[in-house]
Amino acid sequence: MSGFFLEIITPEKTFYRGEVESVNIPSLGGACTIMAGHQPMVFATEPGTIRITADGVTREAFMSEGFIEVRPDETIAFAQAVEWPEDINERRAAEAKERAEEQLRRNRSAAEFKLNQAALARAFARLRVKNRSGRDS
Ligand code: ATP
Repeated sequence: MSGFFLEIITPEKTFYRGEVESVNIPSLGGACTIMAGHQPMVFATEPGTIRITADGVTREAFMSEGFIEVRPDETIAFAQAVEWPEDINERRAAEAKERAEEQLRRNRSAAEFKLNQAALARAFARLRVKNRSGRDS
């Protein structure tokens, strides 16, 4: 299968750089798979699972809010945080979930509500990626 070049960048590091067969991203409109020859476009992503298939092997990672730009020559993803399952601290994610749920129970401003909802979505997505790792191929 022909591939394409993928780069995933966070403010802290280059998370991924290399040739892939496909990448499945948690876009705002639902999960979306990008393969070679995809038309150039930009997607906004929501916290969720990114699936990278390279050399016939698919790996999953957590990806937070960000953007993916599909270009004719390469695809570049930018996100605040991207983590392999082994790098996810489960306790920290569980604590973030508790915190966000507690804040959501209080009646806050619309802006705070949105921030806490986003924090809760990140925590759930991290826990999902962590708990799925190693369970399926
Ligand atoms: P927290 O409230 O625990 O900081 P958060 O969702 O607000 O969670 P982010 O803004 O997504 O955190 O990430 C900030 C930094 O902390 C990033 O470098 C991210 O990789 C790291 N990070 C956040 N939560 C975890 C976690 N559970 N395990 C590993 N790294 C984490």
